[in-house]
Amino acid sequence: MPEPIVYFDGRFVPDSAAKLPVLTHCLHYGTGVFEGIRAYFDPSTGDSLLFRPLDHFERMGHNVGILKIHLPHLPASLVEIACELVRMNRPTTDMYVRPLAYKAGQKIGVTLPDEDGFLMVTVPMGQYLDTTKGLSCCVSSWRRLQDNSIPCRAKICGAYVNSALAAQEARDRGFDEAIFLNEAGHVAEGSAENIFLVRGGRLVTPDVSQGILEGITRDTVMTLAREGMDIATDQRVVDRTELYVADEIFFTGTAAQIAPVTKVDGRVVGTGAPGPISTALQGAYERLVRGGAPDHERWLRRVTHLAAAGERR
Ligand code: PMP
Repeated sequence: MPEPIVYFDGRFVPDSAAKLPVLTHCLHYGTGVFEGIRAYFDPSTGDSLLFRPLDHFERMGHNVGILKIHLPHLPASLVEIACELVRMNRPTTDMYVRPLAYKAGQKIGVTLPDEDGFLMVTVPMGQYLDTTKGLSCCVSSWRRLQDNSIPCRAKICGAYVNSALAAQEARDRGFDEAIFLNEAGHVAEGSAENIFLVRGGRLVTPDVSQGILEGITRDTVMTLAREGMDIATDQRVVDRTELYVADEIFFTGTAAQIAPVTKVDGRVVGTGAPGPISTALQGAYERLVRGGAPDHERWLRRVTHLAAAGERR
């Protein structure tokens, strides 16, 4: 395996050349903002398809301001860097692109240093959660952070301690994933996913003031449901017990994609198998991200691997 190339300090360098000083503020205090973007491999062409990369970098551009971090480039230029990074790593499988903007100052003390750093890495990524069988989940004993402690909408590194505690607790208790309630006791999201319920033929998902990330897959699913299936989404407060009476439940996320949930706290959801709406949305999403939905081509950025294209000629 060739050594991966990463983008670090404004340059593309081998992974082993990217080194952070041990006093880097983000490492000690979690003062960074990250993103996650999928790059789907197209075996028929050898190309990679980045899904909604501009939306991810625009979200990042908004979120970094919360921590007074400045991005080194505008979102559109960061998309080009992401494409170049994928191209340089010449993937032969689905990849995940992880940009991170962080407080780089080297000091002890929690106030935000002026110095910012930015890096981007790619890793191969297959299934993050099992999207085929239906997941067994628990309501976490941990509560989702609230916006006035660490804002979850910002994808802040330190906030993922909250996610890690919940995800690990769920695995340790034999569940596939955790579902967070917020401090008010309402359903928020998974540890790294948004959540949808199906009730009476409509989609229901916690609204953006419930302590959630404003997910790009969440937005994609609401669009696919509305445009392709004539299904409306209610964004509102969701009670815990609605999880127990829902017809279907599924998670959405860049890594998780669309992952049906068939059990919550030992109670069977619907028929106990992934339901028809979850399954239809999964199919539509899979077609879309792999380039099979001409209506939404604008969401895909194709990265052609020049060497591979040359080899094909
Ligand atoms: N919530 C959390 C806490 C997440 O980490 C993620 C993954 N980015 C999501 C929701 C889903 O967001 P997206 O669809 O933009 O990946």
